[in-house]
Amino acid sequence: MQSVIKIDDLTVSYGNTRVLSNIFLNIEAGNIYGVIGPNGAGKSTLFKAILGMIKVSSGNIWVLGKEPQKAYVDLAYLPQKEEVDIQFPVIVSDVVRIGRLAHKGVFERLNSVDYEIINQTMIQLDILKLKDRSISDLSGGQQQRVFLARALAQRPKILFLDEPFVGVDIKTEMSIIQILKELAEEGVTILLVHHDLSTVSNYCDQVILINQRLIGCGPIETTFTDENIAKTYGGQLKLLHKIS
Ligand code: ADP
Repeated sequence: MQSVIKIDDLTVSYGNTRVLSNIFLNIEAGNIYGVIGPNGAGKSTLFKAILGMIKVSSGNIWVLGKEPQKAYVDLAYLPQKEEVDIQFPVIVSDVVRIGRLAHKGVFERLNSVDYEIINQTMIQLDILKLKDRSISDLSGGQQQRVFLARALAQRPKILFLDEPFVGVDIKTEMSIIQILKELAEEGVTILLVHHDLSTVSNYCDQVILINQRLIGCGPIETTFTDENIAKTYGGQLKLLHKIS
C-alpha cells in the first residue's frame, strides 16, 4: 500500500509546553483513519503539523513525498467548528468556490471544469438549493456541509476532518460518511478526528490512538482494542459512552 504521510520522531511544543512527543507514523493511501484521543491529546496539533501550519520542535514530516508546505494543493482541511468564523458576509457558492482556488495561479480564473466540479459537489452534499444564501443564516449542520463541500471541491488527495459531526444531525452524518467511504475507495486518504467510540469501527479502516504520545496506529481489529483505548484515555475512560 502506498504511503502518503510519513512522520519520523515528531515533537511539538507551544512555548515550554510539549504537546506531542516522539510520534512515528506511516499513513497509507485510500484508508479512513480515525484519530482518537481525549481533549487536549494533541489531535488538532498533529493535523496542523502535517498541514505545515505550525512550527514543529523536532522530527520530520513528508506528505506525498514532499515537505508539508509543498503539498498544499493536495491537502484539504476542515477545522473544528469553533475555529471557523461564520459571521463573514459570504454566500454558499462563494465558499465552495474557494476550494478550487488552491489549483489556480494568482491571475488564473476558474474555468468551466471548475464550475462543473463546484456544482457537482454542491449536489453531492445537498446544498445546491442553498447556493445563494448567506453562510451566516444557515443552521450548524448546513454550514458544516458547506465547509465540507469547499474541502471536497478541491479534489484533495488527503482530507483532514476535525470533528466534522459536531452539531450535525444523524441523517447528514450518515450521508457524509457514505461520501467519505466512496472517496476512500477512489484512493483518497481521510484523517478523521472522531469522539464517538461506538461508531469508530463502522466509520474507519484504521485508527491513530494518541495522547501526547502515540499509543498505536493500525487496523481497527488489531489496534482499536480495549487495552489500547484504556491506555489512550487513562482514567477518563469511565466518562465515555459504553464501547460496543
Ligand atoms: P486536541 O485536538 O486533541 O483536543 P490540541 O492539539 O488542540 O488537542 O491541543 C493540545 C494541547 O495544546 C492542549 O493542551 C491545548 O491547550 C494546547 N494548545 C493548542 N493550541 C495551542 C496554541 N496555539 N498555543 C498554546 N497552546 C496550545
